[in-house]
Amino acid sequence: MPENKEHSLLSPSASYRWINCSGSILLPSIGIPTNTKAADEGTLAHKMAYLKLDEDIWKVNEDLLEECRNDPLYKPVMDDYVTSYVNYIESLNYPLRDVEKIISLKKYSYDLFGTCDCLLINPDIPKVHVIDFKYGFGKVSSENNSQLMLYGLGAAELFKDIYSYFEDFDIDMTIFQPRIKNISTSTMKYSELKKWCEKEVVPAIDKIHNAIVERNTGDWCEFCNKHIYCKNYNEELSKEFDEIIETEDFFKVSDQEIVAYYNKFKKVESYLKELKSYIIERLKDGEEMPGYMLSYPNIRSWDKKENLKELADEYQLNNIMTVPQAERKLGKDKFNKIFGEYVKTQKGNPKLLKVRR
Ligand code: SF4
Repeated sequence: MPENKEHSLLSPSASYRWINCSGSILLPSIGIPTNTKAADEGTLAHKMAYLKLDEDIWKVNEDLLEECRNDPLYKPVMDDYVTSYVNYIESLNYPLRDVEKIISLKKYSYDLFGTCDCLLINPDIPKVHVIDFKYGFGKVSSENNSQLMLYGLGAAELFKDIYSYFEDFDIDMTIFQPRIKNISTSTMKYSELKKWCEKEVVPAIDKIHNAIVERNTGDWCEFCNKHIYCKNYNEELSKEFDEIIETEDFFKVSDQEIVAYYNKFKKVESYLKELKSYIIERLKDGEEMPGYMLSYPNIRSWDKKENLKELADEYQLNNIMTVPQAERKLGKDKFNKIFGEYVKTQKGNPKLLKVRR
């Protein structure tokens, strides 16, 4: 699998955002920590898929696959999911295949390119098929999927470079999500993809290259890394709270209404988490965030465990008992007297505290 992949400014994977809102690219970035576990898991699954599909150097790949299986993020079920993806590709029976293929659309913009998980070509029909392997749980459709459409168009241009005598042909575009059993395929003609690109992608690229900053809100905002400080996004979310959910019964909220409330508040759940981690990071950097401070709780754990066993047996503290549990069992004074020297204290993760005035 190509290491250190070059990242494009206008990546197909973020195209749904930048086609709809130039601000998602042009507004400055702020670094807030994000949970990368899911992304790292996806990278590992993609690496395994590449190794299983890139069969020419099969022997070498077996060793590399073993390395993947020793990764802390690996679970045996990952092998099953990756194998189902490989089997799917093989069942399509295309004579030409390329995996982790860099698809360039430099003809439209020098910074428009990305890596397509799998590109299949059959010049006899003729047909091009691009496949995107997604390891996440969020269901993705291939219908009007700009990422797939850009890969499809780039792949079709590559195909045209070799088989220039074909005027027009079909491009199949598939999302493969083994963890939720979702295989979604759409088909478009090369001519349709070109028309779409000229009509929707090229004007969006022009805006970005001419630094015309927009803030167009829509469902693409959820994954925009600028949304924490994007005024328009903030206002859109706030509007949710202006709308009152009418209750049918004067005294009691019905189940349907509870679901409506749940849907309403769910939208802000992850935003709230991001705001919190942003405030924590600013405070850690020594900035002032009005009304908030950090507190670092002390975390107590066992020290010199190897010398503790006999004593723990004598006072019937089993091995898994934590320091606070043992203290509760014996009482503070007795615990300190007997076990005090076996306890170490460390600073825990910062907690956000509201300053009371
Ligand atoms: S949050 Fe939405 S409106 Fe704001 S910059 Fe990002 S995509 Fe645009």
